[in-house]
Order: sequence, then structure tokens, then C-alpha cells
Amino acid sequence: MSARSQHRRGGSARPVDADFVLDTLSLGRRPGTMRTVTRTFSAPARIGLDLIAIPEGAQVDLDLTLQSVSEGVLVSGEVNAPLEGECVRCLEPFEDLLTLSLTELFAYPDSTTEQTTEEDEIPRVVDDHIDLEPVIIDAVGLALPLQPLCSPDCLGLCSECGVRLAIAGSDHRHETMDPRWAGLAAKFGSGSASTEPETRAEDARLDPTAEEK
Ligand SMILES: [Zn+2]
Ligand SMILES: [Zn+2]
Repeated sequence: MSARSQHRRGGSARPVDADFVLDTLSLGRRPGTMRTVTRTFSAPARIGLDLIAIPEGAQVDLDLTLQSVSEGVLVSGEVNAPLEGECVRCLEPFEDLLTLSLTELFAYPDSTTEQTTEEDEIPRVVDDHIDLEPVIIDAVGLALPLQPLCSPDCLGLCSECGVRLAIAGSDHRHETMDPRWAGLAAKFGSGSASTEPETRAEDARLDPTAEEK
């Protein structure tokens, strides 16, 4: 199967259970039969989004229940893995833990489901094995935030000097003037002596009531 060989990097010599592939033969095909699977895999590559992902080589823990149903093998359970991310507010790297729930049907060959769906919609049981890697990649991608934060209340960076506000403290500020007042200050406060009288004369001329009085 092309999808499977794609996901098993040069893995012809590897044992079958490498790379998130599980053997379902011992489950049998009688509907209702269940088996729990607890297993740890090493992520064969980085899994996730641009700013946050399970790093390559990290331990991915699976606590799953495999259940035989009439159309295939229903996989449900939890995936736990460490995350490495970069905070969009303070730009600092951070670590986190991912826990996500998984529910996925793998269709038996020659089942109605197999005949009426595409392989990229419903994954397949292939030679009594299921490959969880594409399923996990999709589920992790959906579970992770597009805008990761090191903490929900991350203060981010100072917009003036770029210092991390978590380090600089909450009283960090700059002596800057509101831009609406900065113009007036330049005119009256710190304006040079030569321009000041000129401005005043102009103001008087433009004000008709000033001369009439
Ligand atoms: Zn942050
Ligand atoms: Zn600052």
C-alpha cells in the first residue's frame, strides 16, 4: 500500500510494530472483541505545526482500546506526548504536554466501508495491521493551537523596547508622551523663541474677533 510505505521510512527491515503500526491479528474479527494496547513510540519526525510540535525522537505514549466491529477495527484512547513550542507573544521557547483523545475506524478489506469510502477518509486494516501514524499526525495538527502561548496570561514584550515584560516587571514603562499631546508640546513647550512670536501673530490675524475688540 502506497500510503503505508510512504509513512514507513525505509522500514522494510524494521519489525512490524515500529512507527505506530499495530498488529490486529490477535484481536480476531468477531464484533465486540476488545483489546487494550499500551505502547510508547518514538516520534520518527517532528509532528505538529510551525510554532508548536512533538519534537522528533520524543516519546509518544498510546493508551488505546482496539475493538473489532463489523466494518473494521475501532481504535479509541489517549495519546500523550511532550511538546516544544514558541510563544507568539514573548517569542520564548517553551515546553508543554499534549493529551488528546483519538477515535478512529480502520476499515477491513472488502468491507462495505472500504468499498464506499476513500483511503484518505477512512484508513484501512492492511494485512491485519493498522498504521496509526497518519491518524496521529492529523489529530495532533487539529489539537494544537495556531497561536501558542507559553502561558495563558503571558505578558508579551514591551511595545517600546521589546523587553520581556515577565522579566522587566509590571511597573516597566517609558517616559513617552501621548502622540496627541506631543505636537502641542513641541509648539508651546519646547518651541524655539524665534518661531513663537511668528505663530502668535499668525493666530491673531486669523482670528477676526481679536482685532474688532
Ligand atoms: Zn510568552
Ligand atoms: Zn520597554
